This record gives sequence, C-alpha cells and structure tokens, in this order.
Amino acid sequence: MVGYCPICGKPVYFGEKKRSLGRDYHPLCLKCHQCNRQLTAGQHAEYDEKPYCSHCYLKKFSPRGTAFAL
Ligand SMILES: [Zn+2]
Ligand SMILES: [Zn+2]
Repeated sequence: MVGYCPICGKPVYFGEKKRSLGRDYHPLCLKCHQCNRQLTAGQHAEYDEKPYCSHCYLKKFSPRGTAFAL
C-alpha cells in the first residue's frame, strides 16, 4: 500500500517512508515548516497538518507568558 506525503503530495513507498503522527512522509520532507530543520519521526509537533519542531511550535502557538520546560 502506498501512502502520500502530506508535504509534497507524492507517493511514499515502504522503504523510504518516515511515519510520524499517523502520516507517512519522505525523509527529506519531514522537516519543520518554520525553520526547515530536519525532524525525527514521532518527536515533533504538528499544527494544521504541518510538522513543526517543538521550538517553533511553542514560539508560534503557545499562549504568551506560558512557561514550558522542554
Ligand atoms: Zn514528500
Ligand atoms: Zn522549527
């Protein structure tokens, strides 16, 4: 079964897929939408179906004044 990468829309084949948060990505596509840093499958945040590193996610979406310890 072939999944489709939510980033580039192309098929992701079994040998190359990186599965994270219920979606299949190409290894090169699994990067932060904000800073383009490569992400580790299962260890990143997601917003609006786009992957973000936790740093950008908190910067972008956390309520002002909320303290997070990572
Ligand atoms: Zn892709
Ligand atoms: Zn980032």
